[in-house]
Amino acid sequence: MSISQKHITFDVEAIRKDFPILNREVNGKPLIYFDNAATSQTPQQVIDVIVNYYSNYNANIHRGVHALSQEATDAYELARLKIQKHFNAAHSHEIIYTSGTTHGINLVANGFSSFLKKGDEVIVSALEHHSNIVPWQMLCERTEAELKVIPMNTDGDLVLRDFDALLNENTKLVFVNHISNALGTINPIEYIIEKAHNVGAAVLIDGAQSCPHIKPDVQALDVDFYVCSAHKICGPTGVGMLYGKQEWLKKLPPYQGGGEMIAEVSFEKTTYADLPHKFEAGTPNICGGIAFGAALDYMNAIGFDTIASYENELLEYATAQLQQIESLKIYGTAKEKTSVISFNVGNIHPYDIGTILDKMGIAVRTGHHCAQPIMNFYQIPGTVRASLMFYNTKEEIDLFIIALKKAVMMLS
Ligand SMILES: *Cc1c(COP(=O)(O)O)cnc(C)c1O
Repeated sequence: MSISQKHITFDVEAIRKDFPILNREVNGKPLIYFDNAATSQTPQQVIDVIVNYYSNYNANIHRGVHALSQEATDAYELARLKIQKHFNAAHSHEIIYTSGTTHGINLVANGFSSFLKKGDEVIVSALEHHSNIVPWQMLCERTEAELKVIPMNTDGDLVLRDFDALLNENTKLVFVNHISNALGTINPIEYIIEKAHNVGAAVLIDGAQSCPHIKPDVQALDVDFYVCSAHKICGPTGVGMLYGKQEWLKKLPPYQGGGEMIAEVSFEKTTYADLPHKFEAGTPNICGGIAFGAALDYMNAIGFDTIASYENELLEYATAQLQQIESLKIYGTAKEKTSVISFNVGNIHPYDIGTILDKMGIAVRTGHHCAQPIMNFYQIPGTVRASLMFYNTKEEIDLFIIALKKAVMMLS
């Protein structure tokens, strides 16, 4: 199947050949992988980069004078430049390698504990992943700052009027995700950033779900911090990035102490290294960083506009088919959303549907999706979540719908 839109041709069958895992079977059926919001699959181009690293130039970076160490350092720093360019950061030292989104958020939350005091307020949204809630609750416990919550409505949109009302001169920090992992809602982060800046608050955006689908421009957004994980963008697990404006990164204290992050160490006093190394203590995930760069190359070669328009087509197609199923309810019906569909059928437990779908080779996620406050809002224990990516097809959606109808019949 191939679609043609605005002079762009997207050949999904050719794309699928890049992903060896899509050839495997599960329970005797061809794998249909609809759990992309949990982690994406890895193309051969990225796998090759990982194999090449361990086969040819595995070495520790920044320290060695020998050839392997130089090659590894060059490749790791080149990947940082690719990440900088991808996110349009003004400086490469504003890109901090992390182990993923969770690490990036904890790094910033930990740093803010030196800036906040009793009476200060920080704002989170009702649509967050636990990763973007718990570190801030820990911060508030340490500093006695108060955590406020932007509420959501039944469509899964944030209530912006209530956000406006929460902002005041005590607001120091606002942290929301760009896209909700549980519902797919695309949040109006431009609006949120502008309003927060008007009262002098900094903004952190959790981009774990947006980066697989859109290409954020951190300078145009004027965002203070932006975090993501490589494993949701066709890269490996255990690596991600924190973008921070240089003014902020200079002010924030280091998160972890160790090798790489120091300028000079004595028992009397240690001085810290310049950015970005101040935040990169210890031997990093060198191969992961290099592969992260390769994953961005891969995605950019396809093009994010192409990806977004194809995925939008998949979303509309799947949504229309699901709506035909009796007593199926979709959670998250925001106008602006990505290809994440959370749903339940009647009173059937999501886990039971997921288990039967797995027997038919179909991988979906069931449960609260690390977003219990959203499930509490809808007063449900969880949902079945199908999250689609550019290597999925309409044929897979057809098979999924048939399998789902079978599962519903067996369970009701
Ligand atoms: C996946 C995800 C996270 C956590 O990412 P890790 O890679 O597990 O650190 C945080 N926020 C959102 C919105 C996510 O989807």
